[in-house]
Amino acid sequence: MDIVFVASEAVPYAKTGGLADVVGALPASLAKLGHQVTIILPCFRSCRPFIRFPSFQPTVDVNVGERRVEGVIKQAESTHEGVRVLLVDQPSYFDRAGLYVDEHGQDYSDNCERFTFFCRAAFAAMEAFDLNVDCVHAHDWHTGLLPVILQHEVRHVERFARTGSIFTIHNIAFQGLFDRRQWYITRLDDSLLTSDRLEYFGRFSFMKGGIVFSDVISTVSRRYAQEIQELEFGGGLDPLLRHRADRLTGIPNGIDFASWDPANDPHVPVGFDRETWKVGKRESRRVLREELGLEQREETPLLGIVSRLTDQKGIDLLASTIRELLSQDLQLVILGTGDHHYESLFGRLSQQFSRQLSARLRFDEGLARRIYAGADMLLMPSLFEPCGLSQLYSLRYGTVPIVRAVGGLYDTVVDATPATIRDRTATGFHFDHYTPEAFLSAIRRATGVFRNQATWARLVEQGMSQDWSWQKSAKQYVELYRRATFLAG
Ligand code: ADP
Repeated sequence: MDIVFVASEAVPYAKTGGLADVVGALPASLAKLGHQVTIILPCFRSCRPFIRFPSFQPTVDVNVGERRVEGVIKQAESTHEGVRVLLVDQPSYFDRAGLYVDEHGQDYSDNCERFTFFCRAAFAAMEAFDLNVDCVHAHDWHTGLLPVILQHEVRHVERFARTGSIFTIHNIAFQGLFDRRQWYITRLDDSLLTSDRLEYFGRFSFMKGGIVFSDVISTVSRRYAQEIQELEFGGGLDPLLRHRADRLTGIPNGIDFASWDPANDPHVPVGFDRETWKVGKRESRRVLREELGLEQREETPLLGIVSRLTDQKGIDLLASTIRELLSQDLQLVILGTGDHHYESLFGRLSQQFSRQLSARLRFDEGLARRIYAGADMLLMPSLFEPCGLSQLYSLRYGTVPIVRAVGGLYDTVVDATPATIRDRTATGFHFDHYTPEAFLSAIRRATGVFRNQATWARLVEQGMSQDWSWQKSAKQYVELYRRATFLAG
């Protein structure tokens, strides 16, 4: 099949979170299965080093609001065979320091315009490159207008007459909501601004457009596919998702097993696998403690967090329990960026408890890898979690995850109970209630088991033997593409 991914992030071009890992890895697995994949991305500043300069660089003209804006479709160096990467270049929209927010963490005020332009330019790019398009795969709110435009504006074009569309929800908390006064920017027909279409409580929502008009909808874990149909997790779109439940599927994210391999990762000082992890992780831990200025305490568990520092990630639970945690025999490394008050709290505490706590408040993939390799446990106390990738990396690197039992965390981590430890299925620790007590109690359970080396080894080894590569999930996506094309045709 010929599949066109349209997304705002993909590793290694632009990344703020898990969306980038998915769009960076899934196309390669599809290509291995024999499909042709093109990825279309906005040409953000971080994409510019990847631009290649062939002679063919078509210009596209796009109407946004009352303006006609020009974009140049550039080709990027591809990191995977069989995958083509196109960048929609319009520096006034995309050549900025941030992807969606400015240096103060505020959404760019022209996001509606930027992503309307991007969605419309994506169709123009498919035409300019004369692409066959069996299926368009749109991701998250930034591309929510794609299924709408496909259905309402470009169907009559022969190329798109039978094109199926799939919209993947990576996180329903970000919906691309805009004031009605900006509706004219989209240039969509006014008949679409109704409550059963894009209108959302007096505003309009890009994400709702994607959900209403795509042939099939997917999200990134089975549990999250159920949760978003409930009031608690649905972000106001739960009635719509219940209505479209027969089109909604949960497919778990995989991880790039070649790139995330502790036996073969330049950030791991002594590579290790399931047989050699004890030696490998001991050395990784020693080097990590040294790098972070933490005391070398071999018997003390080292806990890690690699996360956006926001309420979604349960960072308020961490903030309210951190002093209690620091009174226990454990060490903690926090790698993350996000809400200012969390950054300043952790920054302050790490100066005060510098031998026990290290907070690195930046985005640093190398350090993330060294933490996955060197920590004993990973904390993911998320309020909600569509899939979560950090726990998958940590499982692969022999780091036992302690997670709130929601979304993909529930699906991918098996709670250690006497029964699951006995039958060797346990891979981590769950807690249910979103309370400091429940969180602390899960950590206490984990540090208790940590002191029993034989049991701990079972958890580590079971986690390391899980197969969260993309192969299985890629096959499920292919089925979904077939279904979407069938429904569209
Ligand atoms: P989300 O997409 O909601 O942020 P995920 O767990 O799905 O959460 O994906 C987060 C990804 O971003 C993981 O690859 C994680 O390693 C990475 N990450 C998060 N914060 C940082 C950081 N400060 N430095 C490096 N990598 C980070």
